[in-house]
Amino acid sequence: MTEWKDWNVSARDIVADGEVSVMIHCDGCRRVSSMNIWKVGGRLADAPLQRLRLRCGRCGMYPTSIEIERETLPRHTKILTIKLNPAFWDEGHETNQRQAKARAVKRWATTLPSD
Ligand SMILES: [Zn+2]
Repeated sequence: MTEWKDWNVSARDIVADGEVSVMIHCDGCRRVSSMNIWKVGGRLADAPLQRLRLRCGRCGMYPTSIEIERETLPRHTKILTIKLNPAFWDEGHETNQRQAKARAVKRWATTLPSD
C-alpha cells in the first residue's frame, strides 16, 4: 500500500484490500459517493484509476478527483487523493460538462446545501 501512487494505483490494488474504498467527489451534486470498484475491476482491473473517465450518473458532470480511503473507525482515513487525467474523453465532453455545470448552478440557486 505504501507503493500506491496517484499515477499507478489500479482497481486490482484496491480490491485486494477489503478495508479500502474509493470515494468520488461530484462538483455538480456536491456529494461524495463510493465508487463500485468491483465493477471497474471487472473491466479495467489494471488500468491506473487516474486514467479512467468517470461521469456522475446523477448530474452528468465529470468528476476531477477521487479519494482512496481506509475504513477505520470512528472515521475514515484518507490515503491518497488522485487528480483524474483520463486517457480519453467522450465525444462532446466539453459540451456535456458545460451543460451539466449550468444545470448544477441552477440547482444550487434554488436549493439549500444539504449538509
Ligand atoms: Zn453529480
